[in-house]
Amino acid sequence: MEVQKTATFRSLSENVGQFSLRDKTFLIPEMNRIGAHLLTGAFRSFGVNALVMETYEGLDLGKEFTSGKECFPCQVTTGDILFFLKKEKERLGDDFNPENYIFFMPESDGPCRFGMYNKYQRIVLDSFPEFRKVKIGSLTSENSYALKGMIEKAQARDFRKAAYFSVVIADILDRLLWRIRPYERKQGATDGFIERSMMTMADSFESYGAKKGFNRILDKLEEIVEEGKALIDPDIPPRPLIGIVGEIYLRTHVHSNQDVIRLLERYGAEVVNSSIAEWVDYTTYDKVREAKVGLRLNFKLFRFDKVKSYLKQILSYGGDLLYQHIRLDQAYKRVKPLLDLAGDHRVAHLEKTLIKHDLYSFELGTEACLSIAGIMEFMHEGYNGVVNVYPFTCMPSTITTSIMRPIMNRERIPFLDVPYDGTYQPGREATIRTFMYQVCQHFKRHGRKKHS
Ligand code: SF4
Repeated sequence: MEVQKTATFRSLSENVGQFSLRDKTFLIPEMNRIGAHLLTGAFRSFGVNALVMETYEGLDLGKEFTSGKECFPCQVTTGDILFFLKKEKERLGDDFNPENYIFFMPESDGPCRFGMYNKYQRIVLDSFPEFRKVKIGSLTSENSYALKGMIEKAQARDFRKAAYFSVVIADILDRLLWRIRPYERKQGATDGFIERSMMTMADSFESYGAKKGFNRILDKLEEIVEEGKALIDPDIPPRPLIGIVGEIYLRTHVHSNQDVIRLLERYGAEVVNSSIAEWVDYTTYDKVREAKVGLRLNFKLFRFDKVKSYLKQILSYGGDLLYQHIRLDQAYKRVKPLLDLAGDHRVAHLEKTLIKHDLYSFELGTEACLSIAGIMEFMHEGYNGVVNVYPFTCMPSTITTSIMRPIMNRERIPFLDVPYDGTYQPGREATIRTFMYQVCQHFKRHGRKKHS
């Protein structure tokens, strides 16, 4: 009994972590579709055979091998990997070698359950003898998603830069989609255009990512924005503007959120979802913040060896954050003169907003930091409504609602919670229609501001 227990825990520490990707197939789950493809392009540029797995096709498997108490993204991604491996095994027959694959499942520290997905998925994979040797490659927000051991040491820094840039460009392509689609001249034209553009940009990352040819990538992006602009019918009047906050997987995975942005657009909205770069910036920013706290504390206690180590961390993570800001600004500066796309929030500004209004603290962590401050920003920027999209029972999103709903009621700004668990709720569309009625009333009274 003891031996078995030890063996199980050994699997968690030995088969979940950071492994060299050389000569492996690196399986990327599709969260945000564009982001997954661009990141795959960045990996490929560094010689990693990365591929995006089909998503949501294996939901039945995901539900079969979870108890129902897990967060919904855990069920979806468990289904994705099982579905992929089963199909791959059928395709290759005896040639299937589980050691050739590494499944990508990052994690996050903190009080909620994201840190446990990959452990749970390890247990599920271990329950299939044929999949036991499939490793789970994990990055953690604990060290701001450093890539220790996964990519050759000499390339790791450059890869991190290309990967971050792929996140920023994916955000911009998404913003382009939401900016054009409600105003398109020809119905359905935007979806096809964005799908083609995504493939073009993924190729661009594959060609220029490792060479740090960021200007070449931006040249391509400019062409795409110019082309996309031509799809807009200038005679369609501006629509009411809605901001989306919430849990990162659910708000960006269109299958899981039952394409809520398209539904809001169908009832007359223009929508802006919070970006993914904001989350990456937040994890880096938080490392700097924590190091500053450690530095102050240890300075007071005269522990100078620790002071030195915290100083090093501040410089290292601070340098990363500065680099991220420079790249983010570079990208938005190239596209904003062409089309008025929504910008990104600085995390330092979001923290100041929370402190100023005494709403929440970065000390408590989780996405609630970004969602609560993000709603305040949408409010200040004159949005006509805010939607909080999250998995049923998600802790940070429930905290967000409990803090922000009374404020939104007081400010008379329409606010809607939409939790998802994979079931289709018959009343959902009626709720969204009612919400959109309130949004339109707000728009009539207050108009809307331009994207800042
Ligand atoms: S953020 Fe929400 S959905 Fe994600 S792990 Fe935490 S509780 Fe679960």
